[in-house]
Amino acid sequence: MNHHAHPRMIGALTLGRRAYLDIAAEAQARFPDECCGVLVGTVRAGRAYAMRAVPAANVAADRARHFEIDPVVLFTVQRALREDGRGDGHGKAIRRPREGILGYFHSHPAGVARPSGADLAGAHEVGLVTLIAAPPRRTGPMPLHAWLRLGHGAAQRFRPLRLEIGI
Ligand SMILES: [Zn+2]
Repeated sequence: MNHHAHPRMIGALTLGRRAYLDIAAEAQARFPDECCGVLVGTVRAGRAYAMRAVPAANVAADRARHFEIDPVVLFTVQRALREDGRGDGHGKAIRRPREGILGYFHSHPAGVARPSGADLAGAHEVGLVTLIAAPPRRTGPMPLHAWLRLGHGAAQRFRPLRLEIGI
């Protein structure tokens, strides 16, 4: 995992419009189960930019209330990012910030877009973004909120991140 800023310094998340639409579609398609997937992007100047949302199968036993990212999808994304990273420094004319896994998204079909007790108890790494969508029962904008995972053991917590939908 290659973070370009100390996790505590990340104060905001910009979600690309394409990624936003993909998450919204996935949340609706998996309803009434929780959808889930991987957020890929960069960190610059204290802001995370998630330009891609890679959907993954939810392999949790109780998919209506929990999520567990299909490890095959996670492995595939990690491998693709590693191979992409190897191309750096080989005469590329445009230097892009290195992409990495920023965190995960999932949906709360029955509830509000806040981390649940199960989310807090989850084994996700400190410094990762947790993005939660609550698909609307009718048409309309999908409530979406972002948190940063911080702390270890009894100090585990989520800190809210400002969220902006990009272009
Ligand atoms: Zn959750």
